[in-house]
Amino acid sequence: MTDYVKTLGGAEYHWCKNCSKYPSYIAERTTIRPEEHLCDECLANEGGDDCN
Ligand SMILES: [Zn+2]
Repeated sequence: MTDYVKTLGGAEYHWCKNCSKYPSYIAERTTIRPEEHLCDECLANEGGDDCN
């Protein structure tokens, strides 16, 4: 199961722990994929099979 996380006051959801913008402090967590505000870098990593 994937966790989609957001930093405090953050606008985007991250789900690749190797994303350079992955929050160190997680303010919000959901297992349901949000329909918007998805991180560009996580999306790119996911497409390239590089999402850890
Ligand atoms: Zn990200």
